[in-house]
Amino acid sequence: MDSLTSEIAEIRSSYVRDRLAFVPGERMVRIVQALGATDEDLDRLVTVSDALESDPTLPFRKTRTGRFGFDPGAMEVRRLEFQPFMLSTEDDFVRHDAGQVRVFDEIRDDLQLNTALQALFVFKYMVFDGMAVEHRPKLDYDSDRWVCTLLNVRTTTTRDLIGEPALEGVHSDGVDHTMTTYLGSTNMTEDSAVTFLHEMDEVNGVRWHETDPDLVRARAQHRDFLDTCLIVDHELKHSVSTLHAADPDRPATRDLLAFLTRRPVGGGHHSYEFDSPAPHSTLPMTVALSTLDESTRTAG
Ligand code: FE
Repeated sequence: MDSLTSEIAEIRSSYVRDRLAFVPGERMVRIVQALGATDEDLDRLVTVSDALESDPTLPFRKTRTGRFGFDPGAMEVRRLEFQPFMLSTEDDFVRHDAGQVRVFDEIRDDLQLNTALQALFVFKYMVFDGMAVEHRPKLDYDSDRWVCTLLNVRTTTTRDLIGEPALEGVHSDGVDHTMTTYLGSTNMTEDSAVTFLHEMDEVNGVRWHETDPDLVRARAQHRDFLDTCLIVDHELKHSVSTLHAADPDRPATRDLLAFLTRRPVGGGHHSYEFDSPAPHSTLPMTVALSTLDESTRTAG
């Protein structure tokens, strides 16, 4: 087994065991480099969020999204056509815009053709492929495909605006596997934007500081470039603390990628009309996937 394979197998086995995994950025950089990320593209990823423009519902956030499909038959991940986005209370997501159809700016080639981003897709697939998880209602677990919504998000705190990386409080993302990868921040205090992982008994919508300490399974904080957290999204809820500015006279920013991956939806799901498997016609992207073989998985 080569060192890349054994490293990913180790992360996979801890993810399978704990239902969450935190991979320090330094280790992620080595992994994505081994998966083909160039130094130039790693540098570009640091600043890609500067090109974000707007968010449909949150004033302290700028967001782009894109839909990607993992196709194990073809062993490829590809960009899928644009569809609106919705999270509802059925997804354990309680917020003023829950159930609302949201139209985000689209992720462009500056991000999707970045070799480091592409390596993150390959990494995520190698970690979760073949893993059994608690099923969500109304998803099609007979399908071998996966739909991954990628969000590139910048949260900003200014004198007038408080940035909440998760305004919704305790929630789930409505998917099977959530992966968040930190890109960077400016003027952020040490205690900002801590992620808490809660048992499923915690109440949706509760603010992070009002949660039951007995139901907190773990906490993690994204501090270094490419710090990455994986969560089995229907087995653990999460919340994130507020973004505070170290120097209150200047804006604080925090940039993140979120990879929300689930099986395609079945009939009766609120996203049934927004789950097209068709490739994107004007922003195509295709990357070859890898997988750990059976023996490596069990050995890991
Ligand atoms: Fe979330």
